[in-house]
Amino acid sequence: MSAAPGRPQASSHRSPQGEGTPMRSAPGCSQASSHRSPQGEGTPVRSAPGPGLPLPTGFATLLIDWQRRAGRSGLPWQGTRDPYRVWLSEVMLQQTQVSTVRNYFPRFLARFPNVRALAEAPADDVMALWSGLGYYSRARHLHRCAQVLVARHSGVFPVDAQTLQTLPGIGASTAAAIAAFCHGERISILDGNVRRVLTRLLAFEGDLSQAGAQRALWALAQDLLPSEPGPDDMSAYTQGLMDLGATVCTRSRPQCDGCPVQALCRAAQAGTALRYPVKTRTLKRRHESWWLLVLRDVSASGPRLWLERRPARGIWAGLFCTPVFESEALACAALPPGHAGRIQALAPVAHSLTHRELRLHPLLLDGQPDPLAAGREGRWVALAMLETVGLPAPLRQLLTQLPN
Ligand code: SF4
Repeated sequence: MSAAPGRPQASSHRSPQGEGTPMRSAPGCSQASSHRSPQGEGTPVRSAPGPGLPLPTGFATLLIDWQRRAGRSGLPWQGTRDPYRVWLSEVMLQQTQVSTVRNYFPRFLARFPNVRALAEAPADDVMALWSGLGYYSRARHLHRCAQVLVARHSGVFPVDAQTLQTLPGIGASTAAAIAAFCHGERISILDGNVRRVLTRLLAFEGDLSQAGAQRALWALAQDLLPSEPGPDDMSAYTQGLMDLGATVCTRSRPQCDGCPVQALCRAAQAGTALRYPVKTRTLKRRHESWWLLVLRDVSASGPRLWLERRPARGIWAGLFCTPVFESEALACAALPPGHAGRIQALAPVAHSLTHRELRLHPLLLDGQPDPLAAGREGRWVALAMLETVGLPAPLRQLLTQLPN
C-alpha cells in the first residue's frame, strides 16, 4: 500500500544518520572490523556494541524515497486509511497474487462494504465470494473477526497493533500493517516477502524454521524502522517493504542492480542473495487421490448437481463439494445396485495445496435424482446457481465444464 494519492506527503526526509533505534547486531554475522560497509567506502553504518555487524544506516530513507518514486500505486486497496479495507486486502494478499486479488477485492467490498455488513452476512455468502481465492480458513476467520469486532468493539477496529492481534485471524504482521497504514504506528510488518528482503539485507544466518530466529529477525526489523516517522512515512515505508519483496527482491531472481538498497545489502555484496532466508526444515507434501462422485440430474429447469458440505476441519473445510471417496470401488459401493455400470470416468485433475498434492478423479453419473444408498446430507444445486455456493476453485472449474 503506498502513501495514498492525495494524502499529505512528508515534505522532507530525515538524514540517514537520524534513523532507527539504537543498533542491534544481526545474529550469525561475523564481527565487523570497522564501521564500514562490506562494499567499502561511502555507505554509512551505525556502530554496534557486542558481536556481529552493525545494522546498515539509511535503509528506511532509501526505501521511503524509492517507494514514493517507483513503488506500486493505483491498486484498488491503496489510497485509504480505512482499517476495514486495509485488513481485507492484507488477508486476501496472504498467499495470493496481486493480480488475483485485484478482481476479488472490489467484488467483496461491493457485497460487504463494511464490518457490520460482513458480520451480518450468512457464512455461505462469504465463502461463495471467497471461492477461488483458496486458503478458506482466511474467509472463516474474516467472518468471525467481523462478528467479534461488532460484538466487542461496536464494529470499530482497535488502533494499535497489540490490541488488533487479539482478534481472530489477525496475526502480528497483519496487525502491524493495519496500525502502520491507518494510524502511522511505528511497527514493522514481517510477512514472507519481507523476511526474504531483510534476511538478504542483513545476511541473517538464523534458521527461520526456529521461533527464536524469527523473534530475532522481527526485533531487527523493528530497529530498521524510521526513528521519528513523519505523517505518511510509516505508510510509505511499509508499502516499500512490500513492494521491494514483491517486485525487486524476488525469491529466485532478485534484481540487485536495480534495487534501491543494494549499497546496503550484505547478501548482494557477497553475491549470496539466493542463500537467504535460511530455513532448514522444508515442507513435506503428501500425495493423495480423491474420487469425486459427480451426480447430475437433468430436471425440467436444467441440470443440477448433488453437493455436500465438507467437514469443519481439513481440506476445503466448510465448503460444498461432491461426495468424496478414497477409491473408485468405494464410490461404486455407495450407489444403489445397478448404477455403478453407468459411471463415466472423466480425466483426472491435479491440484496443489500447501501440504498436499491432490489428484482428483471425477466420476460422472447422470439421471439419478436420489442416488446414494446410504442417507447422506447434502442438496441439489442448479448448475446455473453454482456461483452462489462456496466451492473450491478446481471443483467449480470441473463442474462448469462437464461433458453433455
Ligand atoms: S540488493 Fe538484491 S538481495 Fe539485496 S535487497 Fe536488493 S534485491 Fe534483495
